[in-house]
Amino acid sequence: MRIDLHSHTINSDGLMTVPELVALAKARRLQLLALTDHDTMIGVAHFLKLCKERRIQALPGIEMSTKYEDLELHILALNPHKNLGSLIKHLEVQIKKRKERARKVVTKLKKVGFTLPTAMETELFGLRNIGKPHLARAYLSISGNKKLLQTEFLRKATISNFIQYILDKPGQVGYVAKSRIAVKDAIKLIHETGAKAVLAHPQFDLPSNRTRKQCCDDLKEMGLDGIEAVNGRRHLEQRAEFAELAKHYGWFMTAGSDTHNKTRLGVNVSKRMYEALMRIFFS
Ligand SMILES: [Zn+2]
Repeated sequence: MRIDLHSHTINSDGLMTVPELVALAKARRLQLLALTDHDTMIGVAHFLKLCKERRIQALPGIEMSTKYEDLELHILALNPHKNLGSLIKHLEVQIKKRKERARKVVTKLKKVGFTLPTAMETELFGLRNIGKPHLARAYLSISGNKKLLQTEFLRKATISNFIQYILDKPGQVGYVAKSRIAVKDAIKLIHETGAKAVLAHPQFDLPSNRTRKQCCDDLKEMGLDGIEAVNGRRHLEQRAEFAELAKHYGWFMTAGSDTHNKTRLGVNVSKRMYEALMRIFFS
């Protein structure tokens, strides 16, 4: 069985349009697909319509950046479908804050020599939902910025390096702290809409040290419903570790590619996982 419960389009920081995503899912013979753009449901209606036409089981979704102590946890809201008011209000505020943050990043980067032509800056800030990949792609389309990344920061000029070494962490030249909702409040908002709250890419987000147990205990207490036990293709070895957590805490398991590009989509899962998901979301 092949499914994908974590995908992005140009409505946040992915590269595919909604029709491209659905067409790729069809070509890959996905049986179940969720759209989980960051902080927005703007593509959801179109997505559901196209999936229906193509006979793909589909779930609306959102990916939310939340905070738990000093950690950033990404929580997927899967199948929000009622009382959407408070959630949408929250998302609108987040999108506004993302733009403010991106402006600060551009100002900081200018000081160290990374520049953008005015026209490109205008185009960037014309985007509705701006994120780090947009910034990285824009900067690296300029040869001077590529050179600077290579010579001053000693990194190959790739989008992921620009994000990882320039924008991502406190102390880096383009880092500006994100405003994030407390994970507890996010789960509450998600539940108000009838959706399930799922911890995304636990291999990145969960602490690996002895604080992991406390974190999971707290997430359980806050009402987390599921865990993305299979994330992407390179991390299959971690499935067992997260399957154990799922069993221990009574969380259901999901699988997703977290695709942001035009090629990665679809994760093979057991019939058992697929059927469990169908029971949770479609019965
Ligand atoms: Zn994601």
